[in-house]
Amino acid sequence: MSWQDKLRQVEPYVAGEQPKINNMIKLNTNENPYGPCKQIKDILKEIDIEKLKLYPNSDGEELRHALAKYHGLKDEQVFLGNGSDEVLALTFLTFFNGSDPVLFPNISYSFYPVYCDLYQMNYKEIILDQDFKMYVEDFKQPNSGIIFPNPNAPTGLLVSLDFIEEVLKSNPDSIVVVDEAYIDFGGQSCVPLIHQYENLVVIQTFSKSRSFAGARLGVALGNKEAISHLYDVKNSFNSYPIDYITQQIGLVSVLNSQDMKEKCQKVIQTREYTKTKLKELGFVVPDSYANFVFVKHPKIDGEELFLALRKEGIIVRHWNKPLIDQYLRVTIGTDQQMERFFEFLENYLNQKELL
Ligand SMILES: *Cc1c(COP(=O)(O)O)cnc(C)c1O
Repeated sequence: MSWQDKLRQVEPYVAGEQPKINNMIKLNTNENPYGPCKQIKDILKEIDIEKLKLYPNSDGEELRHALAKYHGLKDEQVFLGNGSDEVLALTFLTFFNGSDPVLFPNISYSFYPVYCDLYQMNYKEIILDQDFKMYVEDFKQPNSGIIFPNPNAPTGLLVSLDFIEEVLKSNPDSIVVVDEAYIDFGGQSCVPLIHQYENLVVIQTFSKSRSFAGARLGVALGNKEAISHLYDVKNSFNSYPIDYITQQIGLVSVLNSQDMKEKCQKVIQTREYTKTKLKELGFVVPDSYANFVFVKHPKIDGEELFLALRKEGIIVRHWNKPLIDQYLRVTIGTDQQMERFFEFLENYLNQKELL
């Protein structure tokens, strides 16, 4: 028997590319163009490097306390991880251990099936309709757990708190995970439902709204007991997922949340303008509540447009997958970046005599 026979072979998640192109307009991985609050610069100058010789606080206590206060929860209801991808990985491992399948939408964050395969869990995809809508009835079937992003990614569509409550009520014996990676861009968070439903776990990230993708910080929020189980699993895997520096700057971000809210407001304005503009250019534009739009043009092939944009240094996201291969996911950049994107599209459509 060779070592190859003893492998755990998996097909990994493929993240959006981080290309090195001069003057590119990067609209492919939903980063926030406005950057974190400026107070982070000050704290980075003040950081005592002697602290780096010690292990960090294993539970990120100060940051946890600030987040609990921000969300109106107790410290014990907050879990911190190294980006929400890690929080998601630990969440699947902690809560989804039944024999029935884990449920999630067929068009959704493509990391979910990767975790299931990694852990050899069963899953069943909930099929969205042709407008990417989810139906609450589909979540009323035997399962080991439920997860969906709200707003959904990559569609941007939002479900209501009533929808989420009905899923929670119909599944009292499963953990329902709502991945709120994009909730700060105009959706209503379901965090307050944690007080009523002990089977709800909400995951958020600092990567998008707080412009922290380079620092790696993710959060799970839920009832005290569920969160303590999540800590048990984390402490069986890595005791120190969040380094000292990230704990310090994360705290500054939470204490200056007003800055994040203002920057999200700006992104929302640009997003609404982008929707109008793309509709004028003939695109189909689902009603996104996130910092991206998911769009297709009825007369241009998705991949062709993706490649034409790339040639101009405008990088968007395209998946060569059934059902969504005609769509492009375009991150909302600054007004200036979006103007260049519109300008390109106008020229391109004109050349093809589609305008
Ligand atoms: C971006 C994203 C994440 C992961 O974010 P991290 O950078 O790992 O915190 C999780 N879920 C969804 C739906 C995302 O789009």
